Amino acid sequence: MAKKVYCNKCGKEMDFWDRQEEFSIHTKCGYGTKYDGSTIELDLCCDCMEELVDSCKISPVIDNT
Ligand SMILES: [Zn+2]
Repeated sequence: MAKKVYCNKCGKEMDFWDRQEEFSIHTKCGYGTKYDGSTIELDLCCDCMEELVDSCKISPVIDNT
């Protein structure tokens, strides 16, 4: 599969490591949201994923060490 994937946030082409993360959200927006009934396909590279995680008030990181 050589399909090119781009980070939705910064627009960079995902490299091997970014794709390895497989951080993507595929969902259909419910009514009442800004994107009523639209389908969302969001892919983020490592950098943007980290940025997103860092910006969370409640950390989504589950430390399973
Ligand atoms: Zn990015």
